[in-house]
Amino acid sequence: MPTPVPPYLAVEQTTLPRYPAAGRSAAPHLVVAVGTAVPPPLRAGDRLRVLGAAADAGGLLDAELPTMVTGWRILVTGTESEVQQVRAAALARGALDSELDLRPTDVDTDPHGARPRAIHCGHCHLRFAATAAIGGPVRCPGCAHRLVVAHHHSRTHAAFLGSPV
Ligand SMILES: [Zn+2]
Repeated sequence: MPTPVPPYLAVEQTTLPRYPAAGRSAAPHLVVAVGTAVPPPLRAGDRLRVLGAAADAGGLLDAELPTMVTGWRILVTGTESEVQQVRAAALARGALDSELDLRPTDVDTDPHGARPRAIHCGHCHLRFAATAAIGGPVRCPGCAHRLVVAHHHSRTHAAFLGSPV
C-alpha cells in the first residue's frame, strides 16, 4: 500500500473532529458515559446515564430527549468512535452541535496519529473499526479495497472517510 506523505493539511482546513478544552457551561447536562468511560463529577441538576454500547444511543436518546428542556446540554464520554456515534444519534434526533459536549477518552494531541477509528468505506459504504492514522492505509473488510483515511470526518456517519486508492 502507498505510504502517506506529510505535510498534512492544517486541521482547521479539514473536517477532522476537534475537541475544545474541558470546561462546561452552568446548564444542566445529560451525561452519557459509554462503556467503561468514567463520567466527570456530576453537578446539581445533571442526569447520568451509562450506555453499554454506543449502538444503544438511539433508544436512550429517544427516552431522554423528550424530558429535556431548552438550555440542557448533552455531555458524552467514551472512546472517540463511541462519542461520535452518540453525537450522530443525537443530531439525527434534532439536537444541535452546540448542545453537545464530547469528551473522548482515547484522543491525544495529535489529530493525525494512529488510533482506533471508525472508517466509512467510500467504495462499498461499510462502516468498520480500524487502528489507523489520518492519511494512513487501511483495507476494507467488506470489499477488500485499499483505502486511505481521508482528512474528512462525517458527523452523520460518525466515521472518517476511507477513500479508495
Ligand atoms: Zn468497502
